[in-house]
Amino acid sequence: MEKDSALQPDAASRGERDDERGLQPRDLSEFQGQEAVLAPLRLMLRAAKGRDEPLEHLLFTGLPGLGKTSLAMALAAETGKPLRMTSGPALTRGKDLVGILSQLERGSILFIDEIHRLPTEVEEYLYGAMDRFQIEWTFDQGVHARLLKLDLQAFTLVGATTREALLTPPFRSRFGHHLRFEPYSNEALIGILARSASLLQTKLELAAAQQLAEHSRGTPRVANRLLRRARDLAQLENQGCIDAAIVTKTFSLLDIDTLGLERPDRRILQALADAQGGPLGLKNLAVVVEEDEDTLADVYEPFLIRRGFLLRTPQGRVLTPSGWRAIGLNPPAAQHESAS
Ligand code: ADP
Repeated sequence: MEKDSALQPDAASRGERDDERGLQPRDLSEFQGQEAVLAPLRLMLRAAKGRDEPLEHLLFTGLPGLGKTSLAMALAAETGKPLRMTSGPALTRGKDLVGILSQLERGSILFIDEIHRLPTEVEEYLYGAMDRFQIEWTFDQGVHARLLKLDLQAFTLVGATTREALLTPPFRSRFGHHLRFEPYSNEALIGILARSASLLQTKLELAAAQQLAEHSRGTPRVANRLLRRARDLAQLENQGCIDAAIVTKTFSLLDIDTLGLERPDRRILQALADAQGGPLGLKNLAVVVEEDEDTLADVYEPFLIRRGFLLRTPQGRVLTPSGWRAIGLNPPAAQHESAS
């Protein structure tokens, strides 16, 4: 199955991932948009600095590509403290975590991506580390069992998740602040694209930036991927200048239609249409479109829902009348009437 899409998290080649790194904001002043997240964060930073204390533990929630990792990196740059990055699935045993925690310097930022996928055993070790900067673990079993305690340097845990609801209440309550990332406005995306274009040493016309922003689903990662593809074409066909014609051609090469739908989006809508508009459970839909459930729920569906093409109902996913029309089909008569 064809998987190449500007949206596919794993479609990025190694070179593209390196490029993505090069485009990341280096500090808070370069981090654009997300004012609702940045304003309280700046306040916390000033207050913590005044008290000469590390920042409180932070939980970043939001869809993939909205800048959670970038913001953790910018925070580390801002505080001048070391950043240690890992992810929930990478920490399989308590021992892995103890190794990382014991090496943290005072004020370090420990970033755990996909924190909702942390195994329960590891999560429980984190509780003491978060509350008291101390880890306790039982060594040996039965009558020989001993409780060992390890004091840690005060650090800041930054957890990132696309699924806040999957975190247990005791874990969630240990984060001093929950910061919710929202999709970016087109204006903010235009700003991000302009910065990225200048880093890539490419000329980007305003009309082209507007078009790219409109098709970026409110997500800087998508905006930067579309930009890189447009840059390749511009380099070959337009002396490196991205104008509206180059963007239109890029969209057509990527098979992105006028509604901004990509192949996987259309496949999802078509699968629902084939099931008479649904409802279809996430598992079934994932099997039919050959995507994994998380990618379907976190990457594709939010955009289709925001555009009003798909609904999540307790019975499953349902195609709306606009969803039928988006793939050139007429909604069934009953649905058509109830929607009008
Ligand atoms: P997440 O961790 O939420 O999945 P990332 O931080 O990895 O998202 O962001 C993906 C890419 O998007 C980054 O490499 C960066 O180039 C770009 N990006 C994200 N947020 C911003 C922002 N606010 N300003 C500029 N670029 C951003």
